[in-house]
Amino acid sequence: MTDRTDHPKLSRRATLRAALATATATTGVLAAAASAHGRADDPHPPGPTHRRPRTGALNVQSAVRTLTVGDVRLTYVVDAAMELDPAGFLPAVPADHWREHPGDLTPSGRIAASAGGLLVERGRRRLLIDVGLGGNVLDPSLGIARGGALLRTLRALKVPERSIDTVAFTHLHTDHTGIGFLRDDHQATRPAFPRADYLVADREWGPFWRREVTVGAPSWDEFMVPLSRVVHRFDDGDEIWPGVRALITPGHSPGHTTYVISATGGRRILVFGDAFHTPAQITRPDWPSGPDTDVDVVLQARRTLLASLTAPRTLAFAFHFGDQAFGRVVRDATGTARWHPVPARALLPHPVRLT
Ligand SMILES: [Zn+2]
Repeated sequence: MTDRTDHPKLSRRATLRAALATATATTGVLAAAASAHGRADDPHPPGPTHRRPRTGALNVQSAVRTLTVGDVRLTYVVDAAMELDPAGFLPAVPADHWREHPGDLTPSGRIAASAGGLLVERGRRRLLIDVGLGGNVLDPSLGIARGGALLRTLRALKVPERSIDTVAFTHLHTDHTGIGFLRDDHQATRPAFPRADYLVADREWGPFWRREVTVGAPSWDEFMVPLSRVVHRFDDGDEIWPGVRALITPGHSPGHTTYVISATGGRRILVFGDAFHTPAQITRPDWPSGPDTDVDVVLQARRTLLASLTAPRTLAFAFHFGDQAFGRVVRDATGTARWHPVPARALLPHPVRLT
């Protein structure tokens, strides 16, 4: 990992501090899910209730779902509900597609796209990838949204903020940076996760810090300046957390990052951020998203990603795929790639009422 700021690198003391923090924390999600969790390699384990874990629908907001893959537990800590306007957010997708797949849209004709953070737990350590929409708003041309439930969801899961040892961003758009920092009683900003190291790709941080990116950029005073005080930057291929590597998949934003999580048994989970916004783009990777910064670069990144996603023992997590956030990519007999949601146990219902 590199750190080209004036800020201290992840120090041995910080690592120790994080380890101590997690060692003393309760394993809330583990406890909450102990008798009710999904397992990717055993999709229908008999639980006390013998209820099968289920996949959700694409056209509703995500429940708080958890999936165990080998020695890693993943939990979607939902913060926000978003309904994206198909024409405004995905102008490259022809209207015929939605007419032919009406079940992909909400009753109001929009794309259900939740936002939040992915909690990654291994042993006593906790990594949170992205932090939801928070109090940010969506440009009305893109859709409607309401966020701010992230900390409430963590509390319901019995996961203290202080037990998160690392926060890593896929990219710096407002629906992924919402609960990064809070205002204290003296109106000073402070990290929402006080013991966590905050990580972002160097290739993402630079253009945002130089104010070269305006689309989707977070508040300067509420996010960028506080982040500048604590940020640790990394490069493509770096191991940013034990068993988690950064794969820069640019185009949606300059340094947009996929996190590749390795689990026991040779299994992998790709957290591909906003490289795809809806499963139709898995099948038609030539359909970019409206907010993409560089479409040609996105298409190249998607080719790279699809090659990895269709490899054996590979699962994926998608922030915005309705209530189908966990899945795998499978090629059918014609070679067409498709998103197959995998069962993941719902621990809590979606936490936000949008209207
Ligand atoms: Zn997003």
